[in-house]
Amino acid sequence: MKNNRICELFNIEKPIIQAGMIWCSGWELASAVSNAGGLGLLGSGSMYPDVLREQIQKCKKATNKPFGVNVPLLYPNIEDHIKIIIEEGVKIVFTSAGNPKTWTKHLKEHGITVVHVVSALKFALKCEEAGVDAIVAEGFEAGGHNGREETTTLVLIPQIKKAISIPLIAAGGIGFGSQMAAAFALGAEAVQVGSRFVASPESSAHLNFKEAVVRAKEGDTVLTLKQLTPVRLIKNEFYLEVEKAEKECVSTEELATLLGRGRAKKGMFEGNLIEGELEIGQVSASIDEIKSAAQIVDELMNDFKNVIEKMKTLVL
Ligand code: NDP
Repeated sequence: MKNNRICELFNIEKPIIQAGMIWCSGWELASAVSNAGGLGLLGSGSMYPDVLREQIQKCKKATNKPFGVNVPLLYPNIEDHIKIIIEEGVKIVFTSAGNPKTWTKHLKEHGITVVHVVSALKFALKCEEAGVDAIVAEGFEAGGHNGREETTTLVLIPQIKKAISIPLIAAGGIGFGSQMAAAFALGAEAVQVGSRFVASPESSAHLNFKEAVVRAKEGDTVLTLKQLTPVRLIKNEFYLEVEKAEKECVSTEELATLLGRGRAKKGMFEGNLIEGELEIGQVSASIDEIKSAAQIVDELMNDFKNVIEKMKTLVL
């Protein structure tokens, strides 16, 4: 795409980034999205260091196009991940869930393009100060970890666009061409799409979870656990327990005990739809089919262009 700073920055053809999602985005998905002309990201948050190294190596074999790694900064062995990323020659890193100042300089000194994910204007300003190359601004609609402010994508993107000069990628509630066109109208130069790619054969999510995403309807997801780390997930039995505990005003420690360890793995990777944490965005209500990553990229791009053409006829 001509005149698009994100396509130039990553050397990609289409301004579509596949979100790095724990338990869902391994090398099969990331390489498929990159091969389709977008940018695939490995979700390293659920990978032990040796697994991350293997995933990077497999991704390099599966595509000669650019791809990146998403690194949630609250990951316990973050130093190991950063070291492996540098050793393996990964050229693009998306950091999230932490302070962009911590790793940006180090990564950039190793020739890595750094993007940071934010949910609020104040964090976007910190990113620009930290010297990141681009920002992902993720609205309240998004799945997984999310901001406490509950700012929607529609409100968040123009605010950040006005305040920063580096390129902006919109995320949260974007799964279809019309939403992509809306994001561009708001000032984004690319979109980051997560939920749609969960429902693809290349995603490493359990089939039970993919089918739950396809079944999800309006109102089936909720932003919860705000006392701990806010996360948007499908309302299931586990969520009802959390809701009950929150109504009873239990302490943060009791909530952490209820959450336990490995809930996300149980739900998204092992397919336990009752006890697991099923992280997905509001846009799941509109996803009614499992499609290949390449089909999703093509459909997004074609519908995006068609919507823009149609809009022109409405205003001229
Ligand atoms: P938990 O503490 O509940 O469990 C940790 C999980 O991560 C386990 O299932 C474990 O796998 C796996 N894991 C991978 N590497 C390590 C490691 N070095 N040490 C310990 N566990 C590891 O955490 P969550 O499942 O809620 O979150 C895991 C990570 O994902 C966190 O870093 C978090 O920040 C990130 N995250 C990112 C999101 C995103 O949208 N990008 C959304 C939610 C979380 P095993 O069971 O095989 O031991």
